[in-house]
Amino acid sequence: MTEIQYLVAPLSRNNIRRMAMYVRKQMGCIDTVYFPVMRFLEHVMPIWREGFEWEVVESHILGTKHAITIPKANKILIREDVYDGAESGIGRDRATILHECFHLLWHADQMVVMARSFDMKTIKPYRSSEWQAKAFAGEVLVPYHLCKDMTASQIEVECGVSMDAALYQMGTWKG
Ligand SMILES: [Zn+2]
Repeated sequence: MTEIQYLVAPLSRNNIRRMAMYVRKQMGCIDTVYFPVMRFLEHVMPIWREGFEWEVVESHILGTKHAITIPKANKILIREDVYDGAESGIGRDRATILHECFHLLWHADQMVVMARSFDMKTIKPYRSSEWQAKAFAGEVLVPYHLCKDMTASQIEVECGVSMDAALYQMGTWKG
């Protein structure tokens, strides 16, 4: 999935990890491994962003994109199979929804500079909207303090993430 990257204000992984902890705290799940993504989308996002809407759309409207954020409309469009997947616990789809929520919460008011107009390689990960949103989804879904002693398979099952996401997240804990 190739998404346009935007040059945004820098956030380190530690910054993002703290934000994820804040989200979990607000959701009352600091000690609960499985994060309720749909409850966050449907009940918390509208409180945090007044006028927030999400819309489930037929596949042909988004094509290869799983979901998109429309900052000006304060809205997220979610492909119907992705919405259904997230609701039934498919890890990749759960992460997609958190990823878009982060774009709206954190990037909506600063998506002004398209990375495409630069040499992409000059953008540091921590200044990329895509890296930040991916990191946020991973940090919310796989909290270090609860998962640090788990195997990748345990993380996959208990956190409701893909194996790729479990391995990626474990990689961030090394060194
Ligand atoms: Zn994105």
